[in-house]
Formats: sequence, C-alpha cells, structure tokens
Amino acid sequence: MFGALFQGLGIVTLTVLAYEGTLRICPTERCRRMAAAVVLSAGISISMFLPLTLAPGLVFDLRHVFLVLAATYGGSLAAITTATCAIAIRYWTGGIGMEAGVAGILISACLGYAIAKTLPQRRMTFGGLLILGVAASVSLTSTFVLPVEIAVDILQRIGPQMFVANLVGTLAAGFLLDRKRVGVSYENRLKDYARTDPLTGLLNRRALDHIGSRIERECRERNASCSFLLLDVDHFKTVNDTFGHAAGDEVLRTIASLILEEARSPDIVFRYGGEEVAIVMPDTDTDVAYSVAERMRSRVEMHPHEMRGIMIAVTVSIGVYTASGERISISQGMHLADDALYRAKRAGRNRTELAIAA
Ligand code: GH3
Ligand code: MG
Ligand code: MG
Repeated sequence: MFGALFQGLGIVTLTVLAYEGTLRICPTERCRRMAAAVVLSAGISISMFLPLTLAPGLVFDLRHVFLVLAATYGGSLAAITTATCAIAIRYWTGGIGMEAGVAGILISACLGYAIAKTLPQRRMTFGGLLILGVAASVSLTSTFVLPVEIAVDILQRIGPQMFVANLVGTLAAGFLLDRKRVGVSYENRLKDYARTDPLTGLLNRRALDHIGSRIERECRERNASCSFLLLDVDHFKTVNDTFGHAAGDEVLRTIASLILEEARSPDIVFRYGGEEVAIVMPDTDTDVAYSVAERMRSRVEMHPHEMRGIMIAVTVSIGVYTASGERISISQGMHLADDALYRAKRAGRNRTELAIAA
C-alpha cells in the first residue's frame, strides 16, 4: 500500500509541476482554468492506469485525491473533466467493483466541488486541506454497492490504509498546489509592480522600453504606420507651487485616467517622466493620431479640477510623430514627438503639433 502511495505521490508531483507551468504560461484566468482541467485530468488518468491491484477487480490509486482537489485548483471545468476521465477509465477497466468505483468517483467529485464552493479560495489553510483529505475517503462508503459481507471484508482489510493514503495524498498534493498557486500569483504581482507607475497606475518607462521594442518590430514586419504622442502638462510647476505637491499628484492621477479613457484599445499609455505621458499607437496614421491627440487635449481642458474649493482648468500640450515600415524606431519616434511638443509649448501651449519628418 505504501509503495502505491509513493508511486501516486510521484504522479501527483509531476502533475503539480505541469500545473505550475500552465499558471506561468497562460495569460488569462480562463486559459489557466482550461489548462488546469487538462493537467489534472491527465494526472488522474495516469494514476488510474498505474494502480495497485489488491484483488482481482479491486484496485487502489490516488484518484480520489485528484477528484477532491480538482474544483479548488482548477474550477468547475476541472471538476467535470477529472470526474469524466475517471468514470470512463473505470468503465473501461470493468470488474466486479465497477459500480462501486463509479459511485465512489461521483461522491468524491461532488464533495470536492461542494467544499471548493464553501471554503475561501484565496489561500487554503491546513484545516481546509484536512477537510478535503477526509472527504477523499468518504467514497469508501461506495463499497456497500457490493454485497454487504464483501464490503465489510474489504473495508476491514484495507479501509484504514486507504484512508491514510487518501489523507496523506490530499495533504501533500494540496500543499504543493497551494504553494505553486500562491508563488506564481506573487511573482505576477511583482512583475506588475516592476512595470507600473505607482502614482498614476500607467505603465512606466521600463515597460515602454520592453513593449515598445516589440511594437517596433511588429510594425516593421507588417510595414504598418506607427504613431508616437508625447504629452506634457502645461505650467504644472505653478499647480504644485500654488496648491501643493499632493494636489499636483491628484491632478496627475486625474489626467492619466482621462487619457486612458480617450485612448483606443491598441494604444498603449506610459508615464514617460514627471508630468509627461507617452502614447504609442500601432497601425495608426498621422490623421488618426492627430485627432486622438486633440480628443485627449480637449478632454483634459474641459475637465475642471477642484483645488481648495476653487475650480481650475489644467491644460496639456502634445507632440505627434508618425513613422512607417523600416523607419519605425521608438527612440527616434519619442525624440521627434518631443521636438513637436517643444513647438506646441512655444506656440502658446494647450495645443497639438505634428512633427516635421526627419
Ligand atoms: P511647461 O508648460 O513648460 O511644461 O511648464 P511646467 O511647469 O509644467 O514645466 P517644468 O518642467 O518647469 O515643471 C514640471 C514640474 O512637474 C516640476 C516637478 O516638480 C513637477 N512634477 C514632476 N513629477 C511630479 C509628481 O510626481 N508629482 C507632482 N506633484 N509634481 C511633479
Ligand atoms: Mg515636462
Ligand atoms: Mg509641463
């Protein structure tokens, strides 16, 4: 029995490693759930194809560990796919214990689902895992689908060992799955912090370098136009000097959200410097870039900011540069957009200027 437990734990460990891989690769929650369903279904299938045979038609493996954990770590889809795989394999294996086996699978799958819906999903506690571990052995009652004397005989002979194996298996697998889930989500949060500006929530300059070079490459390959906007808040020093730095911060936050609202879905908005915002617009020609820039400029101009009970208007100036095909370069684009911005400032501020092609 303990040999079977260790073999089962080996399969569990490989499944957890594959689960961790899917967490890293999948970009969305939906993708993660689908991948988890595939991985956990593969895990339970391998486990059931390598069982410990206790008597003809009577086998033991860690299927119930997978079944009770599936809903917690893979959601409803994983609960359904693991149970379906398990039932299909149990039918295919046949033998006298088939009905009891299928009943046991249904019991574990339903209990796993009910517990997942009841326990908090963020972080599994030891108590939660203990509940799941005990739940993995409730399926032993399905033995009574067999004649009572056979059921009692089986449970007396191997019931306690099965209970211990299910409990240890669930605790070990649940602990590992939880470590991976929490670890990967922590890493993702750190990655987000590294590329996000904490004040405005916009992407930061480091992200511009990273994402910008990708956009640069893609636009070149497609020989498409790409536009660059550089936006600077007018007389922002006066806002700080008059109303204080905290009020200035609030103005920056508001302007960032107004710009994000006016940006279209392919546009990517970055905090470029202190009170400067850069917008990279893939597949965008000069006319469209200019009209989006004007929309942003007038949106900021129209938005009243309340400072110490006074409503004041804050304006921005914008420089626009468009390049296409081989001439696309983020650094050159930002440089020429900056030249256009400088002309907008000199021409009186609160305006949009197009760059003069290099
Ligand atoms: P111009 O119209 O020529 O752009 O004038 P300006 O006053 O906006 O330009 P200047 O470069 O002289 O001043 C920019 C100011 O932005 C100075 C700096 O203290 C302020 N600033 C930069 N980052 C932040 C920030 O995160 N919060 C606040 N409150 N102020 C900031
Ligand atoms: Mg500036
Ligand atoms: Mg400024």
